[in-house]
Amino acid sequence: MIQLTELVLASHNAGKLKELQAMLGDAVRVRSVGEFSAVEPEETGLSFVENAILKARNAARVSGLPALADDSGLAVDYLGGAPGIYSARYADGQGDAANNAKLLEALKDVAPEQRGAQFVCCLALVRHADDPLPIICEGLWHGRILPAAQGAHGFGYDPLFWVPERDCSSAELIPAEKNQLSHRARAMALFKQRLGL
Ligand code: IMP
Repeated sequence: MIQLTELVLASHNAGKLKELQAMLGDAVRVRSVGEFSAVEPEETGLSFVENAILKARNAARVSGLPALADDSGLAVDYLGGAPGIYSARYADGQGDAANNAKLLEALKDVAPEQRGAQFVCCLALVRHADDPLPIICEGLWHGRILPAAQGAHGFGYDPLFWVPERDCSSAELIPAEKNQLSHRARAMALFKQRLGL
């Protein structure tokens, strides 16, 4: 088991940093990669895990600290896993509404039983930039793509993602409930287990 007292999060997002610090408690000091570099690495991988490792290695390199990165998105079965690692920019950077419209169009005549999808979250921890054995924790949240948007919570593809265990979209779940069921929650739970937290 790895003993950590300080790590750097490969994200410039203050919300993510706060969430992770709360999860890890006082024993581990979480710092932002933004303290060390403003340059974000190019995400050249073809999978969530490759991109998470790439971001973690970069953060470890610029900080000299152990580094954690996450990569997430939506993988739709009928589309061979698309939009996948390109989820955020599926509609060429035009934002969530355009991404959702493009997804609905791509699945226009597709029957409900063929609309299976999963949200994916991959966490990667490297002890140093060249670590040959990163700790990888993946969380999957299985559901289905609805024929139209429902609900006002959340972000991204939440209004289109039907959650079988609650029979509603993930945008209809209150945030606390989503945070217990989601791909991110699952990956985080595994991560805590791996670190013995
Ligand atoms: P990131 O982890 O913030 O880079 O997320 C990548 C993209 O995947 C987001 O911009 C969303 O389009 C999508 N995504 C990831 N997690 C969720 C989620 O929990 N709900 C809705 N969309 C998500």
